Amino acid sequence: MENQVDIKDPVKFEEIIKRIPKNDLHVHLDGSVRLETIIELSKKEGLELPSYTVEGLNELVFKDQYANLGEYLKTFGYSGAVMQKPEYLEQISYELAIDNQKEGVRYIEIRFAPQLHINENMDMETVLKSVNAGLERAEKDFNRRPEVKNQQEPEFHYSIIVCAMREFGPWSPYFRNFIDSFTYSDRKEICRLASLELAKGAVKIRDKVGLPIMAFDLAGAEAGNPAADHWRAFQYAHEAFMHKTVHAGEDYGPESIFQAITECHADRIGHGYFLFDTTKIRNPEVTDKEGYISDITQYIADRRITIEICLTSNLQTNPSVKKIENHTFAKMLEAHLSTTFCTDNRTVSKTSVTNEILLALNNFKISKKDLRNCIIYGFKRSFFPGRYHQKRKYVRSCLNYYDKITKELPEIFVNKNQV
Ligand SMILES: [Zn+2]
Repeated sequence: MENQVDIKDPVKFEEIIKRIPKNDLHVHLDGSVRLETIIELSKKEGLELPSYTVEGLNELVFKDQYANLGEYLKTFGYSGAVMQKPEYLEQISYELAIDNQKEGVRYIEIRFAPQLHINENMDMETVLKSVNAGLERAEKDFNRRPEVKNQQEPEFHYSIIVCAMREFGPWSPYFRNFIDSFTYSDRKEICRLASLELAKGAVKIRDKVGLPIMAFDLAGAEAGNPAADHWRAFQYAHEAFMHKTVHAGEDYGPESIFQAITECHADRIGHGYFLFDTTKIRNPEVTDKEGYISDITQYIADRRITIEICLTSNLQTNPSVKKIENHTFAKMLEAHLSTTFCTDNRTVSKTSVTNEILLALNNFKISKKDLRNCIIYGFKRSFFPGRYHQKRKYVRSCLNYYDKITKELPEIFVNKNQV
């Protein structure tokens, strides 16, 4: 066929993908700390690490494949331990923004659970201010560049998403105190209250300090911890006009996505991997399983609820995916859902936005138009910290730059699965 590019000859392709203006709407701060920084700060704090070299940590902790979720989650213990001082949070946030800028990412939404960083030296406001300080510094540095100032290239922007936890243990001094204070409440009730407290803090700090805390998220194990339990926190955020995104369908079926939408007013869904899986519907009252999924899918498509796709992360935590070609992203494309490529965790998943896009192009049937849509959905469905007309102007600048760079790309991409 004419006008095709062989992705197996990747040099030029990768160069173009690196240059296009990209976004990452789902990236966890604690999963994206540079290994060099974990080593540097652990040494400073006298914290024990299994190795004090990047190679050693890659081999022992931050692996290419994780045997189980426990091994995967262990990585967060090491990064979380060095995120307990304001200056460290600032440094880590700054470096994450820089790493994104280096690969052409122009817009990021950094998410994390502030309650994991509250301790005797930092309250929630200090935690959020410190993260913001690092991101703001990287934003200002970038936007001072001549090519950005003279509007030849789009600016870099960011916003912050706070994560409530579906469940937690005594993982931080704050959570330990929280649990200890409620002698007569069960753990579920305690988790619900912690979510509501976070929603109140996030809204009040946003309004008092003027930080771009744009959205509320729910993270953690879905099974046994339904999103509906946290509806009061989401309702609070909703009434304060904060945006909502929910980790759903990552390790549980379509009902989790249903709850995210109906109970938590989700504007976006994190992962959504099991959206189409009838075998995972547990509610005995759902007799027409295909119809149930079709209705949810139709609603998501119609409302343009955007699915934050994290291919590498899903491969690592869902053994059932096995091969990337089995990922439900292909079905989502077929159903014309609004999807966007995200990393989830740059360090833990050893990935980048460029890498996620190349992974998709190499394994799915994606046209030039599909690729453009995915990137543009990310900008359009972002929780941009500005007025609507400013967002429109910014999205337009990204779009124009995107079209300029991708001019030479063919309409159809051919990968190893389509020969
Ligand atoms: Zn996530």
